[in-house]
Amino acid sequence: MMSKLLVIAEGRDGALRNVSFEAIAAAKKIKSDAEIVGVVLGKDDLEDKANELIYHGADRVVTIAHEKLQNYTSEGYGQAVLAIVNDESPDGIVMGHTSIGKDLTPKLAAKLDTGLVSDVVDIEVNGDRVEYTRPIYSGKAFEKKIITDGLTFVTIRPNNIPILDRDESRSGDITTKEVDVADIRTIVKDVVRKASKGVDLSEARVVVAGGRGVKSADGFKPLYELAEVLGGAVGASRGACDAEYCDYSLQIGQTGKVVTPDLYIAVGISGAIQHLAGMSNSKVIVAINKDPEANIFNIADYGIIGDLFEVIPLLIEEIKAV
Ligand code: FAD
Repeated sequence: MMSKLLVIAEGRDGALRNVSFEAIAAAKKIKSDAEIVGVVLGKDDLEDKANELIYHGADRVVTIAHEKLQNYTSEGYGQAVLAIVNDESPDGIVMGHTSIGKDLTPKLAAKLDTGLVSDVVDIEVNGDRVEYTRPIYSGKAFEKKIITDGLTFVTIRPNNIPILDRDESRSGDITTKEVDVADIRTIVKDVVRKASKGVDLSEARVVVAGGRGVKSADGFKPLYELAEVLGGAVGASRGACDAEYCDYSLQIGQTGKVVTPDLYIAVGISGAIQHLAGMSNSKVIVAINKDPEANIFNIADYGIIGDLFEVIPLLIEEIKAV
């Protein structure tokens, strides 16, 4: 019998997050001949989102539209996904290792008495053997996991598994499922976000991160400019957040966000182990620091020893000239 993998999509600001498409690509890697069934939960515009999943490789999509699913709650999404899992009896369930994925999947795995491989950065397949690679010890080492039996949840770290090419000629069934979510006690009525300009930090291809060396909130302005010319997002060390140069939502590291951009520019950041935990898997790391002994240079691919207030304007000028 053909195997089946569910992919739980995730939205933000009315659109699907890129990690939803990465989860489809991951499901295809896990079992190339499996039926990939997308899951879209929410209140409106579910058909457009379902079609996007199909264009990115899903074979069909199940949607549940309900007022109480407009914003994520573990109770509401938990009940809805459980209902779909019971209907579909999938062989595996894939979603992003995002704050929602981290909250939802362990609860569902416990409820279904099944396994979970979290924070997967790579998937290798040799015949029937699927190896999941995930960082451990704050990214200092990697472990490989093999699932030998039964239904398993897999969460994938954003920006690690390339998405499949979008193909608008693809088509597939979109089924709307009725689920009784009337007894949900928690409803998030509104999500108030701190105004964050531009690209979502956890999915950004380029991150310009500032540390205590930036010295003030005003000192972050050139970093925003550099991020803008590179089409990226601004992040920060905890040192910079603690000093109130920027908001904690920008913090990267062990107790902040984990990012894996193509390019990470660490500006005035010393490279404490807790910071490295959130960015050391970035594909290319550039460090700008006036201290040649700074630990960040030990993991940087390119280092610029100098004063950030001189280096950043030069970089912006050069990039703008290209
Ligand atoms: P500093 O260590 O003070 O470094 C500032 C750097 O700026 C220096 O290297 C200096 O040479 C350079 N500099 C100064 N002026 C200039 C200039 N003009 N031009 C160029 N360079 C300049 N930290 C995190 O980042 N994320 C976490 O998630 C995190 N979690 C933690 C969890 C725990 C339990 C603990 C104990 C700590 C955690 N920390 C975390 C804090 C971490 O240990 C460091 O204190 C912090 O990362 C230091 O931030 P920083 O590199 O910005 O500051």
